[in-house]
Amino acid sequence: MGIGNWELDAFMHQAKFIPARREVTVVAVYKCVECGNIVESRCKPGKCKSCGAVKDKLVKQDQSKK
Ligand SMILES: [Zn+2]
Repeated sequence: MGIGNWELDAFMHQAKFIPARREVTVVAVYKCVECGNIVESRCKPGKCKSCGAVKDKLVKQDQSKK
């Protein structure tokens, strides 16, 4: 015969555990080595907003992923 209903049920059941595609905003965290200011930006910031240090002073921080 054709595809049993149980197969469809199993598929639908599994699908529930697959998270829907969601927008993931990747925000990098940069820390100013001069003043310790944390800058969150999607792209590398031009300079520290706090002390005005050049971008070379902003070090990208590794974010631990769960
Ligand atoms: Zn700074």
